Amino acid sequence: MTAPYFCPRCGLAALNTDDDKCYGCTGCGYIYFHNTAAAVAAVIARGTEIALITRANEPGRGLLDLPGGFVEGDESLEAAVIREVAEETGFNVDHPRYLFSIPNRYDYHTIRYRTVDVFFAFDVDRIPPFTPNEEAAALHWLRVEDVDPQRVAFASVRAALRRLDELRKSA
Ligand SMILES: [Zn+2]
Repeated sequence: MTAPYFCPRCGLAALNTDDDKCYGCTGCGYIYFHNTAAAVAAVIARGTEIALITRANEPGRGLLDLPGGFVEGDESLEAAVIREVAEETGFNVDHPRYLFSIPNRYDYHTIRYRTVDVFFAFDVDRIPPFTPNEEAAALHWLRVEDVDPQRVAFASVRAALRRLDELRKSA
């Protein structure tokens, strides 16, 4: 990524940053803050197994991921994780339980986004039916210790799986 970028207000190629967070235009004085975005992920457990999807889209297409995504404007973390689970798995879950949060980086169309990924736990009694969709090409029920980290799309999800494995061992 190379500065300067085009300013969205005056159109000059004069938008610079020192820290990938605060962008200032030397032409018109416009300042843009590229703030950390909130994202959510679901750890849906059925007994000793959790649900992982195969991502249908870039980044990480074909790799494993937890159901989840970005929080929308005017949306709570709880509502976001329930919505994302429904969109990607078709499952109707409720009563999200906060687990932990992990910072993440997400490169998309040459722009680096910083996110904080917030993980929530859910339990299901039985495996609900799954239909491949625009976001999830497949669904897998795996024990945390059986997930190959090299097949996981994001560092934050790899870190989350390690933490879940530690929690499992200490339980
Ligand atoms: Zn400008």
